[in-house]
Amino acid sequence: MTKKNKAYSKVKIVVTGGAGFIGSHTVVELLEAGYLPIIIDNFSNSQPWIIDKIKEITSQTPIIYEGDCNDKTFLEEVFQKESSIEGVIHFAAFKAVGESIIKPLDYYKNNLSSLITVLETMQKFGVKNLVFSSSATVYGEPDSCPIAETAPRKISPSPYGKTKTICEDIISDTVNGCKNISAISLRYFNPIGAHPSGLIGELPIGAPNNLVPYVTQTAAGIREKLTIFGNDYPTDDGYGVRDFIHVVDLAQAHIKTLQYLTKHKSPFYDVFNVGTGKGNSVLEIIETFQKVNNTNVPREIGPRREGDIATCYADVSKIKKMMNWETKKTLEDSLRDAWKWQKSLK
Ligand code: UDP
Repeated sequence: MTKKNKAYSKVKIVVTGGAGFIGSHTVVELLEAGYLPIIIDNFSNSQPWIIDKIKEITSQTPIIYEGDCNDKTFLEEVFQKESSIEGVIHFAAFKAVGESIIKPLDYYKNNLSSLITVLETMQKFGVKNLVFSSSATVYGEPDSCPIAETAPRKISPSPYGKTKTICEDIISDTVNGCKNISAISLRYFNPIGAHPSGLIGELPIGAPNNLVPYVTQTAAGIREKLTIFGNDYPTDDGYGVRDFIHVVDLAQAHIKTLQYLTKHKSPFYDVFNVGTGKGNSVLEIIETFQKVNNTNVPREIGPRREGDIATCYADVSKIKKMMNWETKKTLEDSLRDAWKWQKSLK
């Protein structure tokens, strides 16, 4: 078989938002697992040069279409042109919690409409498998930890969080109603880190909202100091506790999910947590970061951030049992890779 034919025999997966943080790492894992990713990205919150870095890491070239998932004509053109698409991983969405409170309609419009357009296009072209980027935010303030998938979904404080809950319901209803699509929502806990090559990672616009990018930017001198949002939580050390997962582990969970979807022939919908199963406090993150990178993070204690909960970590026994997936990387790996990426941006 010639090289060209080999490329054509690869299984095609559409990755919306494939130039973003989790999307780009998933595209790398797809290429390395022998898939042919078809990236759809409007570069509204990502950079075209990330595609070159993906090529550099993998020595392979994903297919890329620049455009918006809300644009039905565009999406149909892509599906028509590519044909025989095995599945879709839908990352493309607005994701800033704080911004969603100020611009709720933008969030509802974009996140719901793009999902609906993706589902309509999948139906039209007979694409059978969907992996959706959901979030632990759908659990709201959990009654206890670790959180299993059977825990009730509670009202999330932000419109961003609510879009995830509504999107899960749209997918579940579509699978039930149309009987020819299988779908899985992956509920991510706290993705951190970067590719170990240091070539791709998170690119926050302006001051980061999330802890680890703020830590790396403070260590790099871009921010004066990190404000810790409260140290009077009912946790062992008083700091907030989260389940921080290396983005490469998270990306690999998407490959396992695709394999799981295609193995089951009858249409179904299910949800899986994706985390480490362990909680680490904000203080542990800062201290581990300083230790593994031999650097310093100037900091102060501030008030609690509105809407924050004390503790959130996953019960990951379902994904381990049903997909044989578990994390391979340590917290140290995540924080080392996050720093390597930050330094590469200088
Ligand atoms: N956090 C903090 N300072 C920051 C950003 C975050 O102390 O500048 C804390 C936050 O209060 C929470 C933890 O770090 O306890 C993780 O926050 P992040 O925004 O990264 O994730 P999420 O709140 O969505 O779990």
